[in-house]
Amino acid sequence: MIKFENVSKIYPGNFAALENIDLVIEDGEFVSIVGQSGAGKSTIFKLITAEELPTEGEVIFNDKSVKSIKRRHLPYFRRNIGMIFQDFKLLPQKTAFENVAYALEVAGYTNEEIAEKVPEILDIVGMGSKAEKYPRQLSGGEQQKISIARALVHNPHVILADEPSGNLDPISTWEIMQLLLKINSLGTTVLLATHNKETVDKLRKRVIGIENGKVIRDDKTGKYII
Ligand code: ADP
Repeated sequence: MIKFENVSKIYPGNFAALENIDLVIEDGEFVSIVGQSGAGKSTIFKLITAEELPTEGEVIFNDKSVKSIKRRHLPYFRRNIGMIFQDFKLLPQKTAFENVAYALEVAGYTNEEIAEKVPEILDIVGMGSKAEKYPRQLSGGEQQKISIARALVHNPHVILADEPSGNLDPISTWEIMQLLLKINSLGTTVLLATHNKETVDKLRKRVIGIENGKVIRDDKTGKYII
């Protein structure tokens, strides 16, 4: 479970990016966080990963305050969280297989474990046949599937997807959403930050609307109204 208890975030310069946020996201939920650019969506994600700390209030991840996690434990803590970005962030000189393998290498997995695990994960995202391709040889949607595979390597508790379809056409966008729904149905909590109204309406999942750092709606029926 992820819980925000009266969370405010004030960046240097005295700018309140988030103000008095109270939120509970249960295990297994699929939640879209919508709002204009600058509303505070990415700040919510950065507070969950402890990349930023709240100025006030508490961010609780699985019953533990994120603030209390020791710096040296952060890499382990972050294995609970898979991140997906608008610009994919794949390594251009590595193949699809190697991009996914790299996340396991840095975590100390053996070559045998990597050889077993990577093809399994590439199959989950439907990219098994593209394992030897480099990012430049793949479409945007395919690159995003590889980055989703990379996000899954540690069987994360939650996936944070920050505008994952920002660079994709409508067909690839929907494929990525279906993949996120599939991952969610296998038990992973998914938080999707987006301003794509059409996508959110089609998903019919919980929508949290953010405006100027405040929650202005929290709608279980999943219509994007702002
Ligand atoms: P969104 O993801 O909805 O576009 P952000 O969470 O990135 O919004 O940003 C919320 C507000 O906080 C914006 O006005 C942004 O300029 C500001 N902001 C974000 N990061 C920083 C930072 N490191 N320092 C100062 N201001 C920041």
